Amino acid sequence: MPTITCACTSGKPYAQCCEVYHSKKILPPSAELLMRSRYSAYALHLIDYLWDTTHPAKRHLYNKIDMAQWAKANHWLKLEIISAEKNVVEFKAFYQKGLQQYVHHERSQFKKEKEQWYYFSGDYFH
Ligand SMILES: [Zn+2]
Repeated sequence: MPTITCACTSGKPYAQCCEVYHSKKILPPSAELLMRSRYSAYALHLIDYLWDTTHPAKRHLYNKIDMAQWAKANHWLKLEIISAEKNVVEFKAFYQKGLQQYVHHERSQFKKEKEQWYYFSGDYFH
């Protein structure tokens, strides 16, 4: 079986990277790893994973249909982590829609509850 490199741009095989989080074998041990696994979840259209890792207090702002449309409408090119602190991760997500390439630049807040990290909120750069 060919080795599939993880979509989070870690350079590691998927099976040794975000797959262990997507399959819920283990919880991402840091906000950065949760962030990476959410990016690759967008690339792989794992909407339930995105939903489950969104903080329960923030889920009313989202719905799975919009998440799925956003995930599928774009081709996810690469992820660049700009900086990662304990509960804040700044990143650039590169994606393509049609012939046009875009960068989503965000500084995200994460919260940990009962050993589990959640995406809480984000500030966007334009
Ligand atoms: Zn990964």
